[in-house]
Amino acid sequence: MDWLFKCKAFYPFLYRKTVFDIDYQALRNEGVKLLMIDLDNTLIPYDESQPNDQIRKLFKELKELGFKVVIISNNHLDRVEAFANDLSVLFIASAKKPLKSGFLKAHSLYPEIKNTEVVVIGDQFMTDVLGGNRCSYKVIVVDAIKRNAEKWYTRINRKLEKRVLSRIKKLDLPFYQRHRLDEKR
Ligand SMILES: [Mg+2]
Repeated sequence: MDWLFKCKAFYPFLYRKTVFDIDYQALRNEGVKLLMIDLDNTLIPYDESQPNDQIRKLFKELKELGFKVVIISNNHLDRVEAFANDLSVLFIASAKKPLKSGFLKAHSLYPEIKNTEVVVIGDQFMTDVLGGNRCSYKVIVVDAIKRNAEKWYTRINRKLEKRVLSRIKKLDLPFYQRHRLDEKR
């Protein structure tokens, strides 16, 4: 996996505890126009299916700030579609992150927006961070809302994620400390 570290494929642009701790106004000021947001454990835990009031309020604010939002999830169509329709945003289901295809599909919904104006938000290094970086988008990584309902393949990704974090710590301690990655759950 050495080459991946050399090209900083696992380095997030920012780390925040939750989607509610992100300064969206600052992103707007920096010219960000499109947010690609992961669903499971980023917006809601696996054992819930609908947006709660806090999420509704957040999406209203994002709309008011002028962001385009696409929900991008590896989960199946029924779950992702129902959630996104409820919030009146577009979505990509079965996105196959960290492959590029799902991200590029999401981007193709807003072709006038440049790569530098896209921010990916998600809870996993192996899917969201790696995939977003592969497409040269900025990635904001957040803590998983609730770990205990995660599926077997996500548990494997979490093990790899742990190794990624210890690798970043070893190779680039200033970055690791500056982004407080020791706090990542
Ligand atoms: Mg997730």
